[in-house]
Amino acid sequence: MEIPVTLLRKEQLTHDVVRLTLQRPKNYDFFAGQAIDFRLDRPEMKDKVSPFTFTGLNTADHLELTIKCYPSHHGMTEQVAKLQAGDEVIISEPFDTVALKGPGVFIAGGTGVTPFIAILRQLKVDGKLPGNSLFFFNKTRADVFMQDEFRSLLGKDFHPVLSNESADGYLNGMVSADFLKANIGNFKQPFYTCGPEGFVHAVKAALVQLGASESMIDVQF
Ligand SMILES: Cc1cc2nc3c(=O)[nH]c(=O)nc-3n(C[C@H](O)[C@H](O)[C@H](O)COP(=O)(O)OP(=O)(O)OC[C@H]3O[C@@H](n4cnc5c(N)ncnc54)[C@H](O)[C@@H]3O)c2cc1C
Repeated sequence: MEIPVTLLRKEQLTHDVVRLTLQRPKNYDFFAGQAIDFRLDRPEMKDKVSPFTFTGLNTADHLELTIKCYPSHHGMTEQVAKLQAGDEVIISEPFDTVALKGPGVFIAGGTGVTPFIAILRQLKVDGKLPGNSLFFFNKTRADVFMQDEFRSLLGKDFHPVLSNESADGYLNGMVSADFLKANIGNFKQPFYTCGPEGFVHAVKAALVQLGASESMIDVQF
């Protein structure tokens, strides 16, 4: 089903990541971690649909999306970057992404963190955050978003990682077995990874090499 909703607010979180606050349709429910197909009702965009993940919670009076914009792709996110409050967008019914298997390690590359935002917020509401940790990989400090909230949710179990620069308060490196071995003690727990395809393949291969069971690794692109 296609559901038109109005954009209420657009905030710039980094140079290329925006948070969209959308009107919430009546009787529209979803779970933390679910995504939707997103469309714009314009003739030039009629064949373009992009999946995005809700980053807000089902209890909020609005819907929230957090989107990285790629103007050079000349696709959906180039247009998302140009949206203004009052514009109408079209969303689908929600669909599942991450399957939770219990407390574990969340490993995200860039906006791959979006399903984890809603899941971690929901775990906080449910009093189930202890035992979870987040490794949030970005290229540079300028790419990191929502750091204060992740820190407030997870404290010392939030680990921002920069791959292209070194800075105080950040781990430094690319995802690899060496990196994960140096920073995670227990590989017999659930792992959740989401991000660009190459990133999640590298995470999964490294985890398996370190003894994690494939059935305990949830991979999302
Ligand atoms: C289930 C799911 C949930 C997701 N949730 C989120 C989310 O919450 N937030 C988020 O930010 N993203 C999310 N994504 C990723 C998001 O859907 C894509 O980033 C988005 O669709 C990209 O749209 P686009 O039209 O701008 O670019 P694309 O669809 O990547 O590309 C449009 C066109 O540009 C061309 N192109 C592709 N790559 C390049 C390149 N490197 N240089 C130049 N041209 C190129 C291609 O020919 C393509 O036809 C999710 C993905 C999935 C599968």
